[in-house]
Amino acid sequence: MVVSSKLSGNTLRKPFNDLVLGQPLDVFPEDDHVDVDFYDVFGPLPTQEPQNPTLDNTKNMFADVIKKDISDLNEIGLEDFEVLKLVGQGGFAKVYQVRKIGSSDIFAMKVMRKDKILEKNHAKYVKTERDILTKINHPFIVRLRYSFQTKYRLYLVLDYVNGGHLLFQLHRQGLFREDLARIYAAEIVSAVSHLHANGIMHRDLKPENILLDAEGHAMLTDFGLAKQFDHESSRSNSMCGTLEYMAPEIVLGKGHDKATDWWSMGILLYEMLTGKPPFVSGNRQKIQQTIIKDKIKLPSFLSSDAHSLLKGLLQKDAKKRLGSGQKGSYEIKGHKWFRSINWKKLEARQIQPSFLPEVDGNQCIANVDKCWTNKPVIDSAVSSPRCADNNIFQGFNYVRPPAA
Ligand code: ADP
Ligand code: MG
Repeated sequence: MVVSSKLSGNTLRKPFNDLVLGQPLDVFPEDDHVDVDFYDVFGPLPTQEPQNPTLDNTKNMFADVIKKDISDLNEIGLEDFEVLKLVGQGGFAKVYQVRKIGSSDIFAMKVMRKDKILEKNHAKYVKTERDILTKINHPFIVRLRYSFQTKYRLYLVLDYVNGGHLLFQLHRQGLFREDLARIYAAEIVSAVSHLHANGIMHRDLKPENILLDAEGHAMLTDFGLAKQFDHESSRSNSMCGTLEYMAPEIVLGKGHDKATDWWSMGILLYEMLTGKPPFVSGNRQKIQQTIIKDKIKLPSFLSSDAHSLLKGLLQKDAKKRLGSGQKGSYEIKGHKWFRSINWKKLEARQIQPSFLPEVDGNQCIANVDKCWTNKPVIDSAVSSPRCADNNIFQGFNYVRPPAA
C-alpha cells in the first residue's frame, strides 16, 4: 500500500507491524495503488472473496459479539452515505469525509480492503480495532458510530474530526509552547490512561494519529495496532508501532507491555516541544541504534520540569519508566510538569487549549492536507454487493446506540 503523500513537507511515518530485526523495515511494499475514485470506495476488486486456508482460525472471530449486534445487521450500509472527500490515508486504510444521506451529519469513513487485510494477516488487528472502538467512550478518543462491510471491504464510520492533525498544526507553528503542549499532553495521557485501565495498549501513538477537534481538543484515533491485554503484567512480543516512536524494548524484540505507550508519549511530547522527534536519521538501522543506545539530548530552552518528565518517560529500561510503577499512570498525572492541570476539569473538556483551529462548519476540510482533498472523488451509485455478516469478518457490523 502506498503511503506516498507528504504532510506539511514531512513524509508520513509508516507503522511497522511484526517486523523482525535485521530484515528490511519496509513491510508495506508498493502495490496497485489506485487514485481515489469510485472503485476505491465502492467498486468490485479483481479477486474473488478472499479465501485463505491458513486463516481458518480467524473464522467467526467476531462470534462473541454477534448476539449483541445481530439486531442491527443490515440497518446501515454504504448506500446510506454520500462520499464527499478523501481526508487521509494510513498504512492500512483510506479515510473519506462522508455525509449520512438524508441528514447533515458528517462522518469520517475508514475503508479497508479485505484482501489486503488477509494478505497481511491483519484480520485480528481489524477485529481489535472495531471491538475497542465499540467499547471505548472517552472525551479525547474518536467515536465509532457504525461499522459494516461489503463483499470486498470493511468500513468504520467515525465522528469526523475537523481541526486537522496535531502534526499539521505542529508543523505550521514549528513547535508548541509548554503551556499549549501541556494541555495536549494531558489530554493524551488521560486517553491513554483510560485505555490502560480498560486493558488496552494503543501501540501507535504519534502525531499523525492525533487530531484536533473544532474546539481545539486532542482526539486520539487509529486503533489499528492496538491490543487488548488480560493481566497487569501482560506482555506482547509482536513488533509494532512506528519506528521513530518505538520503545527500546520493542526494537530489541524483548516483548513489551503498556509502558511502551509511555515511551511513545515521551517521544510525542519531545516532538511537540522541540518540533521533531529525538531519534531521527535517514537510515532506519541507525534510528534503531540511537533508540537503544543514545542518551536523550534535552534542549536548554525547556523548563527543568519538562526535562524531568521527558527523562522519566524516555527511560530506556521499561521497568523504571515513569508510569510503570505501582501508581501506574498517576506517576505521570502527578508529575510536577502537570502541576497546573486539574484533571477533573480537563476530562470535562473545561480546559481550553489556547490554539483554536480555524473551522468553518462541520464539513470543513481547510485543516486537511490538500494532497488528499484535491484528489477527485467520483461519487456514484453503489455497485459493490452488500455483504451478509456471515463470512470471515462475521460480527464486524455495528451501530452505536443513540445515547452512547
Ligand atoms: P491507518 O490505520 O491506515 O493509519 P488511520 O485511522 O490513522 O488509518 O486514518 C488515516 C488518516 O485519516 C488519519 O491520519 C487522519 O488524517 C484521517 N482520519 C482518521 N480518522 C479521522 C476522523 N475521525 N476524522 C478526520 N480524519 C480522520
Ligand atoms: Mg494512522
